[in-house]
Amino acid sequence: MPSDAGSHPHTLNPVGDGGLVDGQDRDKLCRLADQAPVMLAYFDGARQLCSYANRTFLQALCDPRRSPLGRALSDVVDPTLAQPLAQALTDTLLSGQTLTLEQPLVLRDGQQRWAEITLTPHLDPQGGRAGVYVLIVDHSRHHAAERALLESEERLSKFLQAGIEGIFFHRDGHIVDANPALCALVGLSLHDLLNRPALMLIAPEHQVATAKRLDGQEDTTFETAVVHQDGTRIPVEVIDRGTLQHGEPMRMAVVRDIRDRRATQARLHFLVHHDALTGLPNRTAFLAQLDHLMVAARASDTQLALLFIDLDHFKRVNDSVGHTRGDALLKTIAQRLCACVRSTDRVARFGGDEFMVLLPGVRDRDAVVRVADKLLDAVGAPVVVEGQSISVTPSLGIALYPQDGDTPDVLIKHADAAMHVAKGRGRATFAFFEPQVATAAYDKLMLEGELGHAIIHDEFALLFQPQVRACDGRPVGVEALIRWQHPQRGLLAPNEFIALAEQHRLIVPIGTWVLREAARQAQQWHAQGWPLTVAVNLSTLQFQAPDFVDMVEALLTRTGLPAGWLELELTERMLMDDVPQVCARLQRLRGLGVKLSVDDFGTGYSSLSHLKELPIDTMKIDRSFVQELPHQRESAAIASAIVQLARGLGLSVVAEGVETAAQRDFLVGLGCDQLQGLMISAPRTAAQLQAWLAVQTPPPAPQPRPQSP
Ligand code: C2E
Ligand code: CA
Ligand code: CA
Repeated sequence: MPSDAGSHPHTLNPVGDGGLVDGQDRDKLCRLADQAPVMLAYFDGARQLCSYANRTFLQALCDPRRSPLGRALSDVVDPTLAQPLAQALTDTLLSGQTLTLEQPLVLRDGQQRWAEITLTPHLDPQGGRAGVYVLIVDHSRHHAAERALLESEERLSKFLQAGIEGIFFHRDGHIVDANPALCALVGLSLHDLLNRPALMLIAPEHQVATAKRLDGQEDTTFETAVVHQDGTRIPVEVIDRGTLQHGEPMRMAVVRDIRDRRATQARLHFLVHHDALTGLPNRTAFLAQLDHLMVAARASDTQLALLFIDLDHFKRVNDSVGHTRGDALLKTIAQRLCACVRSTDRVARFGGDEFMVLLPGVRDRDAVVRVADKLLDAVGAPVVVEGQSISVTPSLGIALYPQDGDTPDVLIKHADAAMHVAKGRGRATFAFFEPQVATAAYDKLMLEGELGHAIIHDEFALLFQPQVRACDGRPVGVEALIRWQHPQRGLLAPNEFIALAEQHRLIVPIGTWVLREAARQAQQWHAQGWPLTVAVNLSTLQFQAPDFVDMVEALLTRTGLPAGWLELELTERMLMDDVPQVCARLQRLRGLGVKLSVDDFGTGYSSLSHLKELPIDTMKIDRSFVQELPHQRESAAIASAIVQLARGLGLSVVAEGVETAAQRDFLVGLGCDQLQGLMISAPRTAAQLQAWLAVQTPPPAPQPRPQSP
């Protein structure tokens, strides 16, 4: 590398025209030229030998070991440059004109550059060609950027042409370019679009809003609508961005057809808010409508009527005609409901066989009754499905806003409660919500739900009511009586839940629990020296269960209780249901050694001839007769007849519900064997019974098992 100490060894005086600069200035100029980030050189005119090169030129292009001075071009730079440059030198000298060329350049270190080379002729005062100034500017960076821009514009243009989304460029609100997709979207040619206002694409009612979005300089995305030439309005999403095109600031709008998206959204919205089978609004949608209409009713001070419709025994219909026909039935019912009401009323499917009808602006109850009647008729009319006529009746519960509830939840709950009241009244009818009635129905409903969990939660308990020998008052047995320790309602008596348990067949597991618990308890007393018979009440369903006898047998085996100490109480109705079958079952039980008694005797319709055939041990005189003893003659006559009948059949007699000494004395006089009632003891817990037993006359010697008559 040439040093720059002293005068510049790499320079000659190219400015040989004299007079313009003196030696000192020349030196300054050379130093200045060395600082320039461009390559400078001078070649004389005659032989085209280098007589000056600045430092950048030397460093970039020349072999450091050989000064270029006095050498020909081909000797100074790389041949790839030397060749075109030599030609250009000649041309410049010949033409006397400045010449510029763009040229790739290989630097001494092998780097590929892009250069702009300017050759300026040096004319002597006589007009002769003294030489040529060579100025080489490396503008690789600029060149690369330009190339990149060009390429990106080309690429963009390709995208624009090929894209399926409409794109247009706009400046000052006017379209300056558009791709084929946009042209297709609006049904216009590029020619039709160019230089026209961008808003011409937009549907009139969206123009003001869209103008605001397009005018701004910010990047923005919004939804609007364009209009096709054929008048079709197309919802679109517009993405508007600032950009450069051919180096000019511009805005580019991507116009995306969102018809499919809108359709999907609408479909989804429909699916979310409608019931797929009937097409009616579903629960979610209905709740929103109800809420909305309640607000409106409040504002306008009007009434709403909510009708909760439940089809009676729809499950049965479904099971018998099949689900496909059941579905067809539901569809028809949905249509009929809609046909019964005005367009301002609402109909919805709430669940499987539950529908809701909402009547806004009702004047009075009569108006609602008219609609309810119409709905009952419409739903109740037979539906012919695939040639088969199907009938189903609805039960309808009505709650009015505002008096029956001021939130959707409460109003629905009350309409539901009223519907249950209607069901309770025999179905195929309607009921208005009435707080007391509905509460009772609702309580029942709640209880139904809770009854299922009561066994698991160990909420049942047994009380035991003593039975004593009539002649001497000695305890001989107990009757097990169930109680439900309800977590909220406290101790519930059987009349509050047994019927419910029977309806839901829960009586079977509950009854099994009672038997097991009673047997376990009796076994425990036996172990303590109290050989008490334990009497257990049976319910029909339980007794009819095919495995009932097996269950009793297994239970006796498991608890180890001698069968003779278990007594099963059956009602007259249970005995008369299907006499041969009942008889067989009783025989099997009797075969096990279990005792059998007829509860509440005298209240049912036993056929005396059948009674004779049944293997019964005991009759229990119902307490309704006992209560009126001894003064009421009819009761006295019945009690007396029962005792005689039992005697005749060889059965023992228990009188229940004995409350007074007079009753006791009368019954003892009739010849009753055992007494049970408040006079002796109320039903007791096992512990209370034990305490009671402790103060009684010691237990009698174990009774011999009664023999079958
Ligand atoms: P039940 O079999 O006639 O039982 C006698 C009922 O009379 C019991 O009522 C008892 O507490 C009540 N009682 C006893 N002595 C007197 C008295 O001197 N005066 C009056 N007024 N009443 C008296 P409870 O416990 O409420 O049982 C009612 C009914 O529930 C029972 O009538 C029975 O049919 C049924 N039951 C009770 N436990 C069960 C059970 O475990 N299973 C089934 N299936 N039914 C049961
Ligand atoms: Ca009983
Ligand atoms: Ca009874």
